[in-house]
Amino acid sequence: MGLQHSNKPVIATLGTHSALQILKGARDEGLPNLCICRRGKEQPYRSFGVADEILLLDDWSDWDDALEEELLRRNAVVVPHGSFVAYLGSERIHHMRAAYFGTKGILEWESDRTKERQWLEKAGLLLPEVLKKPEDIDRPVIVKFHGAGGGFGYFIARSPDQFYEVKNRKYPDEDDYVIQEYIVGVPLYIHYFYSPMTGELEIMSMDKRYESNADSIGRIRAADQLASNIYTSYTIVGNIPVVVRESMLPELFAMGERVVDVSKKICGGKGLFGPFCLETIVTRKLHVYVFEISARIVAGTNPFVEGSPYTALKYDVPMSTGRRIAREIRIASEQGRLEDVLDEYPAMYGSALRV
Ligand code: AMP
Repeated sequence: MGLQHSNKPVIATLGTHSALQILKGARDEGLPNLCICRRGKEQPYRSFGVADEILLLDDWSDWDDALEEELLRRNAVVVPHGSFVAYLGSERIHHMRAAYFGTKGILEWESDRTKERQWLEKAGLLLPEVLKKPEDIDRPVIVKFHGAGGGFGYFIARSPDQFYEVKNRKYPDEDDYVIQEYIVGVPLYIHYFYSPMTGELEIMSMDKRYESNADSIGRIRAADQLASNIYTSYTIVGNIPVVVRESMLPELFAMGERVVDVSKKICGGKGLFGPFCLETIVTRKLHVYVFEISARIVAGTNPFVEGSPYTALKYDVPMSTGRRIAREIRIASEQGRLEDVLDEYPAMYGSALRV
């Protein structure tokens, strides 16, 4: 195949997580795309026919300077997604010379629990209380080990004794954890998009997660749950669309706006832009507790390849978050404002990356 050099930016992403909609979105916006895949994992990108070109790596560690040269040569704009940091590592991303959609500086605020909390607190959001030590446990808490991937390895405790009982038996050598007040309510993941071009914050869609085994425990009766001594885990298997009560929308918009405003102050420059997600629990009194922020496209946007009820109101074409990213890059490119949507406008592009 081989892409010809064109003045249009090429949307490049890693073949995993939310790549299908990112690649499809690029195509819908008339931009060429490139899927960088681990060998053996390329079948979905071939089968669904969304990739213009698939570049295979034996391992993510093969992502090297030569590959970045190639990306520069092709006018590629790399679009990070939720698995991006996990696979490439923050060091590689930090030094990445290829054009990068978004602000790299925000990753540091997103990945460090203390900094993340400072950011969200400054934005005036309601956060679950963090207990300093196990002895302080006087209510249900959720214990999260650092680096626990996808909710696996969390556990619930109601007392210091219960905490130590599980901790010593299951995680005797792990000491990097946070003890968070357990909020009783329903999970709600709100997907936003902030455009640095227009200064507008959009709500793209919302989801809840389909988690194993948390979402299966209710399928057996309480007596059986007790008898089988099940420990709750939150391993993400998939995502389910949600639409909220309309009266909640003003608050959800305001929360997103404050997060964006504060991001400009804490990490300087453009701050957070593009897609991001507030991960919340909504209580029966409709208090919205934010337990995490994701500063990139989340997999919860995947059910909305054809757009969501919200984007259907705003756009006259099916608008996924992937497509919204491509549209932002396309418009920036057409207006000669690509530097507004890239981390650092790479000097070496000169006049190459433009339309
Ligand atoms: P996470 O991996 O941070 O997305 O969280 C995994 C699961 O834990 C999600 O289903 C959340 O609903 C749940 N969760 C995380 N923090 C809390 C909390 N403070 N209270 C209640 N549920 C939580």
